[in-house]
Amino acid sequence: MTTPREAWIRNYVDGGFVDPDPERSFENLDPATGQLVARVHEADIALVDRAVRSARRALDNGWADTPVRERAALLRRAADRIEERFEEFVAAEMADTGKPITQARELDVARALTNFRTFADVVASAGQESFLTDLGGGRQALNYAVRKPLGVVAVIVPWNLPLLLLTWKVAPALACGNAVVVKPSEETPSTATLLAEVLEEVGLPAGVYNVVHGFGGNSAGEFLTDHPDIDGVTFTGSSATGSHVMKTVAPRVRPVSFELGGKNAAVVFDDVDIDEALAGLTRSVFANTGQVCLCAERVYVQRSIFDDIAAGLVERAEGLRLGRPADATTTTGPLISQAHREKVRSYLEIAEQAGAKVLTGGGIPDLGAELAGGSWIEPTLWTGLTNADRAVREEIFGPVAALIPFDTEQEAISLANDTEYGLAAAVWTNDLRRGHRVAQQMRVGISWVNTWFTRELRSPFGGAGLSGIGREGGESSLHFYTEPTNVCVQL
Ligand code: NAD
Repeated sequence: MTTPREAWIRNYVDGGFVDPDPERSFENLDPATGQLVARVHEADIALVDRAVRSARRALDNGWADTPVRERAALLRRAADRIEERFEEFVAAEMADTGKPITQARELDVARALTNFRTFADVVASAGQESFLTDLGGGRQALNYAVRKPLGVVAVIVPWNLPLLLLTWKVAPALACGNAVVVKPSEETPSTATLLAEVLEEVGLPAGVYNVVHGFGGNSAGEFLTDHPDIDGVTFTGSSATGSHVMKTVAPRVRPVSFELGGKNAAVVFDDVDIDEALAGLTRSVFANTGQVCLCAERVYVQRSIFDDIAAGLVERAEGLRLGRPADATTTTGPLISQAHREKVRSYLEIAEQAGAKVLTGGGIPDLGAELAGGSWIEPTLWTGLTNADRAVREEIFGPVAALIPFDTEQEAISLANDTEYGLAAAVWTNDLRRGHRVAQQMRVGISWVNTWFTRELRSPFGGAGLSGIGREGGESSLHFYTEPTNVCVQL
C-alpha cells in the first residue's frame, strides 16, 4: 500500500523539503490509538552531511553577521506566525504524542511562542563584559568580550515536550546568529517539520534551520553528532544517550549542553496546606502522564500527614480522566509508545517484587475499542519502598511515584539528595525559612518551594550529576550559543 504524498513527514535541508525515499522510511504512530499518522523519511548520512554543509554556507553567506535587532525581529515574527497557525501545531503535537488538547494548547504550543519572544528580548538587551585592568604607573588596559555565534549547532531533542524543548534551544541559537541542524525524536517528527514552514514563511535564510529525521545510533542522530563540521551539540534526552553523545563528540572537543534525565523528589512537611500541596503534587507526579523530566517520582512526606497525603493523592489519581486527546475534559494521555509502556510496566513488576503496596493503578486501563491499540497505563502510587529499591533509584518516566515517610528535616534532605540525578526538587511547606533552607540544600538545578514547573525563562535551567552538563535560559543560553573573543587594549 502506498501512503499519500501529504502523509509524508519530510526532511528540510537548505531551505527546501526533500523528496521522500520510500525505501528509507519509518512509521509515525499515534500513541493514543496505535494508528498510522504518517510515514517519516529517514535521513541517510549523505543527507545529514548536506544539512550540515548548508548550515555552514548560510553562516558564511551572512547570517552570522545579521544585526541583532534583525534576528530578534525575525524571532518575533516566528512567534506571531506560530500563533496564527496555532491549531495546526496543536493537532500535530497531539497526533504525535497523544497528549490532551488542553495541555498541547496551554503548555506545549503556548511555550513555543514564549520561547521565541523571550529570547528575542534577551538577545536584544544583552550587554557585554568589560574590565578595566590597572597596569600600574597610571596605565590601564581595557578588556571587552565580543560574542560571536558558536557556528553550526546540532540540536537533538526527545519526544515528551517536542516543540517546547525544540524551540527552547532553536530560539536562543538563532538569536545568537547560529545555524542549526535539528534532529527531533523519531517518535515526534511533526512539529519540528511544521516549524520549518513557519521559519521559511517569516524569511529565515535558507540553510539556517534544517531538520533531519531518524533514530539515534547508526542513524540521523549519530550521523549528526559525529559530523566533523558541527561546532557544538545541544541535547535533551536520557542520561545514557547523553553519555553516548559525549563520547561521539569527544575526539573533536566540541562544547555540549546536556539536559538529561531525572529522579526528582518532592518533600512535603507537615505544616502545609494539604489541599494546595495535593494539587501541586498531583501535577508534579502525573503531568504529561509522568513524562516530564521534572516530574516527581519520589514523594517524601512527613510522617504525621503521610496517610492524609497518600489518601488525597490516590483520590486525585483516580480522578484523572484518561481518554481521547481531542476531548477537552481529558487530563491524561497515553505513554509515548508500546516500547515505553513495556519499560514502565517492567518497573511496576520490579516495585511489586520489592514489596511495594500498590495504592492505586498498577495496570492497563480499558478505555474502549477506539483506544485499545494505544499505549495507555494507569496512574500508579506505591508505598512500602525505600531509597534502596530500583523503582526509587532509576528514572521510570511514567505516571508513577513512591510515597516514603520521613521524620526530620535533615532526614528529608538526605533522602531527597540520595540519588545520582540532580535535576529538580519541590519543597512543600508553610514555614518560610524552612522553605528557603531546604530548597537551597537540594543538589539540583532547580528547586521549587510550594510550586512545580513554574518557569522563568531568563533563569538558569539544567541539572547536576546524571541530569546534565551546563545551563541554558537567559544569559546562560547566550553563553552556550556564542563564543567570546576577549579584546585587550592597552590605554
Ligand atoms: P533518548 O535519549 O532516547 O532520545 C533523545 C534524542 O536522542 C532522540 O532524538 C533520539 O533519537 C536521539 N538519540 C538516541 N541515541 C542517539 C545517539 N546515539 N546519538 C545521537 N542521538 C541519539 O530520550 P527520550 O526517550 O527521547 O526522552 C526521554 C528522556 O529525556 C528522559 O530521560 C527525560 O528525563 C529526558 N528529558 C530531559 C529533559 C531536561 O530538560 N533535563 C527534558 C525532557 C526530557
